[in-house]
Amino acid sequence: MINVLNPATGEVVGSVPSGGRAEARAAVDAAFEAFKSWSRKTAGERSALLMKWFELIEAHTVEIAEIMTKEQGKPLKEAMGEVTYANSFISWYAEEGKRVYGQTIPASHPNKRILVQKQPVGVIAAITPWNFPAAMITRKVGPALAAGCTAVVKPAEQTPLTAMKMVELAYEVGIPKEVLQVVTGDAAEIGDAWMEDTRVRKISFTGSTEVGKLLMRNAAQTVKKLSLELGGHAPFIVMEDADLEQAVQGLIASKFRNAGQTCVCANRVYVQEGIAEEFSRKFAEAASKLKVGNGLDEGTDIGPLIDEQAIEKVNKHIHDAIEKGGTVIYGGDTQEISGSGYFVQPAVISGATDEMLCMSEETFGPLAPIASFKTADEAVERANNTIYGLAAYVFTKDLSQAFKMTEELEYGIVGLNDGLPSVAQAPFGGYKQSGLGREGGHFGIEEYLETKYVSIGL
Ligand code: ADP
Repeated sequence: MINVLNPATGEVVGSVPSGGRAEARAAVDAAFEAFKSWSRKTAGERSALLMKWFELIEAHTVEIAEIMTKEQGKPLKEAMGEVTYANSFISWYAEEGKRVYGQTIPASHPNKRILVQKQPVGVIAAITPWNFPAAMITRKVGPALAAGCTAVVKPAEQTPLTAMKMVELAYEVGIPKEVLQVVTGDAAEIGDAWMEDTRVRKISFTGSTEVGKLLMRNAAQTVKKLSLELGGHAPFIVMEDADLEQAVQGLIASKFRNAGQTCVCANRVYVQEGIAEEFSRKFAEAASKLKVGNGLDEGTDIGPLIDEQAIEKVNKHIHDAIEKGGTVIYGGDTQEISGSGYFVQPAVISGATDEMLCMSEETFGPLAPIASFKTADEAVERANNTIYGLAAYVFTKDLSQAFKMTEELEYGIVGLNDGLPSVAQAPFGGYKQSGLGREGGHFGIEEYLETKYVSIGL
């Protein structure tokens, strides 16, 4: 068994089986068999089961959120928000599964007809990270199950208990066990077994760019369909004409959600020079009001980071920024807030320059480096100067500036005067090395469908 630890206390909160290659293969055996009947159900039948699952999850929101806070650390109110967000993918795709339309195309011969059908790809494998223990699973299995695929899932080793609970509820409403299985244990063994298996037709992965690249290479062995949602390095641009209060609140939401541990969190803040000082001051003041603590405690805004390494990375980025001329205008202390938790105070650094590590490497923690710029063109150029392309943010009231900048930013998601753009009905995904494919909306279900062309002679 593998113990799951609470990052706020260091205590063991549960344990899960330590599976490997054999368990991974056995899950595919069952999923492959179950695909035959699950894919033949009507979309309406699958939808009805998914809606029952949605309702049961909703009824267990607090219970799931508590499990999540204990294993992941995020404040309980955020965990409840995640359960609702995660569940929105189930209800949305329960509906969308009924709208998997084909096409007929005019033929070039009077005695021929052209039919295009959409069919589920088959068994899919999902490998998910620890930062959103529920949503990263439903964003994949919601559309997969609605489309008629069966799924094998490997949650992150740090946060498998939320996944186990969600799946237990799926079984309670009558979704067959073989249709949705969770395998825990040795990540590399499980991943390798699934990548080699010809019966696994698609892999959907959210996690680090490094592991994403490895899976991409391994998936090549059997030419699997691939969706990758990898690292980001989000720029957050504030123009002089922006509504400052809105921009400050947008940055607080974007930067400090999940203690800065999301792939769409603002990493680099670029503020136009005329308002840089005022913005930095207001933002530092707002950041100073955030309470760091155990996510289960009332009033906590920022929970612990996931582990010791996460704290080390934040500290490394802060020290590097100071060495390169940055000024810490708020926070930055690693505090022992309660017991042995991985707590760190949010930090705001002004005078950031593009040479600092935090301006090119993902910090994945509550550090906000603020740099200034002169023109919109300069801001866009600096924002695009990265291998990543997941999310970017622009705050401006100028319509033509807004259009120009959103078009020029090489990012899959642009929050225009919006620090929290992610919703079930919109496409989420990245340009460049931030990934392949999209999750959410009608785009998201396409990833689990094959296109079949039937040419009919009359
Ligand atoms: P993070 O840095 O966020 O932990 P990872 O990419 O290491 O990101 O982890 C994301 C998911 O990928 C987790 O479920 C993890 O267990 C899994 N993982 C890590 N290494 C491998 C691997 N070699 N093969 C398959 N999955 C892996």
